[in-house]
Parts: sequence; structure tokens; C-alpha cells
Amino acid sequence: MALTSLIGQHKLKTILAQEARHRHAGTYILTGAKGMGKHSFAEEFAKALMCEDPDDDGACGKCSCCNYFEGGTTPDIVRVDAPSDGKMIPVADVREKIVADSVVKPQFSRNKVFIINMDYVAEAGQNALLKSIEEPPANVAFILLSSLSGNVLDTVLSRSEVLKISRYTEEEVYDVLRLRQAPGDEDTLRTICSYCGGNPGRALAMTSDDSYISLNREVTDLLLGLGSDSYTDILTDGSAFFADNKKDADIIIEIIFKVLGDILMYNVYPDREAATETAAKIRKFALENRHINSVAIGRCKAAVTEFVKMISVNTNYDGACCALMIKIHEEFKK
Ligand SMILES: [Zn+2]
Repeated sequence: MALTSLIGQHKLKTILAQEARHRHAGTYILTGAKGMGKHSFAEEFAKALMCEDPDDDGACGKCSCCNYFEGGTTPDIVRVDAPSDGKMIPVADVREKIVADSVVKPQFSRNKVFIINMDYVAEAGQNALLKSIEEPPANVAFILLSSLSGNVLDTVLSRSEVLKISRYTEEEVYDVLRLRQAPGDEDTLRTICSYCGGNPGRALAMTSDDSYISLNREVTDLLLGLGSDSYTDILTDGSAFFADNKKDADIIIEIIFKVLGDILMYNVYPDREAATETAAKIRKFALENRHINSVAIGRCKAAVTEFVKMISVNTNYDGACCALMIKIHEEFKK
């Protein structure tokens, strides 16, 4: 395994390989939502930092450091993750397992590496870390992982090199699903890839949950029907759907963006083939509704963005849903 064995994130991989080759101490923070692969990237980066002779692909996989790493016997990597009780990591543990241990030199590897899940380090723990991460001892690197924005103190961020894991392309998510042998036929997997928000972990979770497949179908049908629905339909059936699926609002938003994007694509490229059953339905709709052009789709997307803003500040959810559906109805109706 090497950095290049991980799917996607080409820019990040280049940076990590360069850092591993040229740096001997440092503090990095890998940010990205749950499911984006922070742990996998941290492990490969750690291995490259520990390796005697890393190259552009990351760790060499041949030296004694790599062998120790792969054998799982090296004391030179310290992983501080969520406690089994799900609570925060006690400050005493931060001092003992990280601060005190970081002054102990690496035994078998080029560098000693600490991988710390910052989602479980509270403010006091983060403050206890400040001095260590500001000037790590020689041959010590800290890789901090954060999935919750706003959780890491500014004083920690300013002392770290912040590396963001960005959204994966649909094709990359598809490759991850295939690699992990996710259950489901081609059509199902492609559908999931298109509305997982570029998050492979979320896509994997969806493959084992049929309700997401039906949610995609329901949202698509709701959206495509909005143009011909009356206000009464929208305010009753449409509202009821949004209310019933409030917990999945973020996924519904992804699906709406995806469907809007697909309508526009078939409007501009009517000959483009539809790969899935849902895509075929959207294509048929787009060809029958040529008035829904880039201007109309632009206004619909602005309405969705407005909707996201409204629900993020806890505006009346039902009201925001109705406003969104009515705006789309205005653009879609003939
Ligand atoms: Zn090596």
C-alpha cells in the first residue's frame, strides 16, 4: 500500500508525499466530513513520514521502517482515537499519551507520528497540546483529524498546516464502492454515487440501506411533478414528504441539485444517453420541457441555496420547504 493506492485527492497526495520526503517534524490537520477517508490518508501519510526512503508514491514498502509499520509492531506510531465509552479523551490522557510520549525519540522509524482524532479532544485537551504542536520535537509529526468544523481551536489551527479532503467525483466514489465490494447492481451504485455528496463513506453506508434508493426515486418524482402540481398538491403532499424525511434533508438537497443539473444537461445535450432508470426518466422530462433552460435551472438552484440557508438558521422548516417547491413550480410550469 502507498499513498497512490488511495482513490482520488490527487493534489492532497502530492502535498503529503512532498511533506513526507522533505519534512522531519511538523503538525498537520486533515479536515473533512465523516466518511471522507481522513483515517486512511493519515495512515498512509504516517507510513510515508516513518519510511526511510519515501518517494512520490509515499512509503517505499520495503525498508525496515515500513516492515515494522506493516507488522503492526512499531511503537513509533501513536493513535489517539475516540475512547470506547464515546466520551471525550481525558486531559490526563492527552498529557500522558501525547505530550509526555512525544519527547521519546522514535525507535525504529525515521519519524515518530501521532494521529489524533480532534473530534474527541475538548478545549482543555487542545490547550494542553499547544506547546507540543507548536514546536514538535525533532523527528516527531502530529497528524490531527477533524470532521467537525468549529471544533478545533484557532490557536491549534494557526499552529498547523491545514489540509482539506475535498469532495470526490462520482467516478471516484464509484471506484471506492467497487473496491470495497459494496452490494448492489450497477444502476443502484451509480445512483448512490450521484447523490452521496461526493462522500465515499456515506455512499458505502447507503449501499446497505434500501431506504436511500427509494428516497432518490421519491425526490426525483416529486421534483419532476412540481410543474404540473397545483398549489394545493404542493402544500399538502409535497409538504408531507419533506416533513416525513426531515432527518434526511441534506441528502434530499443533494438529490435536488443533482436532478436539476441533469435536467439542464439533457436540455443542452439532448442526445446524451441515460445510464440509469432514474436518468432516463429525467431525460424524458427534460426533452418534454425544453422551456426549463439554463436560466430557469439557475433560478431553481438559487432557490435551493436559499432553502439551505433558511433551514441552517432554523427558520420554519415547513415554510421553507413550501417556498422552495413553489419557486420550482413557477419555473417548471408550462
Ligand atoms: Zn519504507
